[in-house]
Amino acid sequence: MARYSPSVQNLISRLGALPGIGGKSAQRLAFHILSMPDEDATALVESITEARRLTVRCSCCQNFTDSNPCPICSDPTRDKSVVCVVESPRDVAALERMHEYKGLYHVLHGVYNPISGKGISDIALPQLFDRLSANAEIKEVIMATNQSVEGNATALYVSRLLAPSGIKVTRIASGLPMGADIEYADDLTLANALKGRVNISS
Ligand SMILES: [Zn+2]
Repeated sequence: MARYSPSVQNLISRLGALPGIGGKSAQRLAFHILSMPDEDATALVESITEARRLTVRCSCCQNFTDSNPCPICSDPTRDKSVVCVVESPRDVAALERMHEYKGLYHVLHGVYNPISGKGISDIALPQLFDRLSANAEIKEVIMATNQSVEGNATALYVSRLLAPSGIKVTRIASGLPMGADIEYADDLTLANALKGRVNISS
């Protein structure tokens, strides 16, 4: 017999399917939502609907934005010769937070991971290659994927594919420990990783 009514059980399942939310947290959140004042619960639902309705992927860098192209791509002061490739929009936020990097970004929305079924076209790599062939002013691609097996494999894949193009491919320095996520790195570590990037052009 179910411990909760079907509607509550459904809410718990939906919350539990979110990343980083275990069964216990899902239950806690569900009961918190149920005990909220009506207007707070409605505001929560509306904020999800609104964010989803207004947010699109930037047609240039693939980052989430509510104006297309996004503010970074349409900023005339940004250096259009450098593109920093990251796994997620959260990484862009982390890099922007340190106010050091003035180039553009490309958000992959994942990493190349054939074992888990994430192929080249499941992440925004085709869009990156299209972008590079359409924009001759791009001279350097900085691979700022996480220091993980998949992050490194993605960086290597890009460097191999871009070898004939003459575009320089660099990898952020290993100041970041293996397995460390860009988004959780402190600003100094991140700034050093970016400054100390190494050429991995094939
Ligand atoms: Zn953009």
